[in-house]
Amino acid sequence: PPGLQPGQDVVASVCCYCGTGCGVRIHTAGRRVIQVAGDPDHPSSLGKLCSKGMALAQTVRNDDSRVLGARWRPHKNGPQRPIALEAAFDLAADKLAQVIQSDGADAIGFYLSGQLLTEDYAVFNKLARALVGTNNIDTNSRLCMSSAVSGYKATLGADAPPACYEDLDSADTVLIAGSNMAYAHPVLFRRLAHAKAARPDMKIIVVDPRRTDTCDIADLHLAIAPGTDVALFHAMLNVLIWDGMIDARYIQQSTQGFDDLKRRIHEFTPRAVQDICGVAAEDIARAARWFGSANAALSLYAMGLNQSSSGTAKNATLIHLHLATGQIGMKGAGPFSLTGQPNAMGGREAGGMANLLPGHRDPANAQHRHEVAALWGVEALPSSPGHTAIDMFDAVLQGKIKVLWIAATNPAQSMPDQSKIRAALRKAEMVIVQEAFANTETLAYADLVLPAATWPEKEGTVTNSERRISRVRAAIAPAGEAMADWKLACAIAQRLAARIAPHKRALFDYPDEAAIFGEHARCTAGRDLDYSALSYAVLDAEGPQQWPYSAQTQGTARLYEDGRFPTGNRRARFMDVGYTPLAENISAQYPLHLTTGRLRDQWHTMSRTGLVPALTRHAEEPFVALNKADMRRFRLASDALVKVKSRRGHIILPARACDSVRPGQAFIPMHWGSGFIAGDGINALATSARDPISHQPELKHSAVGIEIPGYE
Ligand code: SF4
Repeated sequence: PPGLQPGQDVVASVCCYCGTGCGVRIHTAGRRVIQVAGDPDHPSSLGKLCSKGMALAQTVRNDDSRVLGARWRPHKNGPQRPIALEAAFDLAADKLAQVIQSDGADAIGFYLSGQLLTEDYAVFNKLARALVGTNNIDTNSRLCMSSAVSGYKATLGADAPPACYEDLDSADTVLIAGSNMAYAHPVLFRRLAHAKAARPDMKIIVVDPRRTDTCDIADLHLAIAPGTDVALFHAMLNVLIWDGMIDARYIQQSTQGFDDLKRRIHEFTPRAVQDICGVAAEDIARAARWFGSANAALSLYAMGLNQSSSGTAKNATLIHLHLATGQIGMKGAGPFSLTGQPNAMGGREAGGMANLLPGHRDPANAQHRHEVAALWGVEALPSSPGHTAIDMFDAVLQGKIKVLWIAATNPAQSMPDQSKIRAALRKAEMVIVQEAFANTETLAYADLVLPAATWPEKEGTVTNSERRISRVRAAIAPAGEAMADWKLACAIAQRLAARIAPHKRALFDYPDEAAIFGEHARCTAGRDLDYSALSYAVLDAEGPQQWPYSAQTQGTARLYEDGRFPTGNRRARFMDVGYTPLAENISAQYPLHLTTGRLRDQWHTMSRTGLVPALTRHAEEPFVALNKADMRRFRLASDALVKVKSRRGHIILPARACDSVRPGQAFIPMHWGSGFIAGDGINALATSARDPISHQPELKHSAVGIEIPGYE
């Protein structure tokens, strides 16, 4: 490109943090990344980046903050020692083969990450199901998006967000539920704020127990009691019906199940639910009327709905508002789930969850298993159900899973009920961890550590929240001996195949990432997300594309414009579902509702963003935010150290008075682990209670108590 000095280069790629999927340009000089800037040609972000994206260059390391080589632990409780990579691959293959032969394929579990690229997911999925022969493959997206998946599938028939980012510019009413997008999806938030500034008559409603920075652009903040979203959405639908704001023709032509739901929600009047939700009936009715009178109503939602023991119901009842009013499949409208991680979507497309197969297929469906087996060139795929994330760790504790293979995620810190997760990591006969950064807590439990390449050392693709597939491109070589996650998986898979099924060795003989993507894209042919016509060549020539994609029509901005859904009879479904209270109630001992969430400048467990001083300045230490009334109730001075305890664990950290939480509630940012906090990490407090359909845990709520250390 013009303006570059000799030895300098610019590579177009994608930010590795949130599901917004902003395009970046990585500037290099020699083998170093010298700058990362927004890519004005990327259609999802148009050159914009948030504070995390702008600091990306400062996270690129090849020092001891990285895992630069393999390590193994010869004795379960002994120290880790360096080992040659080839020997590490042999060790892993030997153990996997031994366990498969002695205990069966289901004694192996794979726990992956929405940080992985689609190509990594595709290889791991083939390794787990076609070579090992187990459906025990799941991902930290289970903690993040699985209720959005089950909500979409239950109502619209497919795991497919129907809207796109352009819809933020043209909606009349925007309902933001369970999302602090000002912190979690900042570039999208700024886009919405600009749209609101340009069109002040746009109505923005925020549903959140806390008054977050997202409320700064809200016309109405419904500060509901934690976990009461279903009652709220039922009451809003009740108002829409009562006021004649539903689209009877759309309901009749494009949906089913409305009459049963109508009978159920008859009693969910705003007056009836105002005490449940802690929101005035008038405000519930106002929100419903803004939604019902809009020319285009858009909903944006994330973890506040998903991380719940009734996450599927919360998603479905929000989607009901769109189906009842026909606010879907048109410009500026639709229920739009904002994905948390950079490639949670791509992982779902590749089938990297226990209950998915490639191309949005279902492992419980014999025809789907047969189709994928044929595409992969194997005889059959396993039919026994796989363990989902938390169940997988339970299965280790029960002695059913002996080997856990973890890639690009940090369950010792990020999973709820951490003492149980750590006990499982200690109990497993072998824990394999492939990881790029040396500071994750899970590494301490690894019996075998494999050095993983990371952004910007990897080639591949990711899919963002608006179904847009972008190329991730390597700008520099991997640090030390690090390798792309799919290469680590293939190296072990080929050795394992040589030991248990030599004819399957060639399944993992990929020349490059483009070949993996080609195989994966063929798995989508004829499915709702069909992008079998896409290839690296097309993506490089045409730029990022939204699925479904065909060579004739190219990408698809919005789904369901014809009012037909992938449900069999082509009708969307109203889900006849009631309101279920939180899994865990408060008590005299645990009198506060605790919720956790993100800070603007940190990402997940801070393995990258924690390396950048400019990012840690926004909040330098963990804290628990309490309302002033509760600070007085517990006789706390500002920044006093307090012990926050739940039924599962405790932590000690400073207390801060904060107007954003209501009396009786507490908030703790989710990012800090036990290395920073006396006691365990923050998720030691969280319950592993989970949604019965999505199996997503209720990370957004635990009952907690406050004590002053030494005075309990
Ligand atoms: Fe990266 Fe998300 Fe920020 Fe965009 S909004 S720069 S994808 S963290």
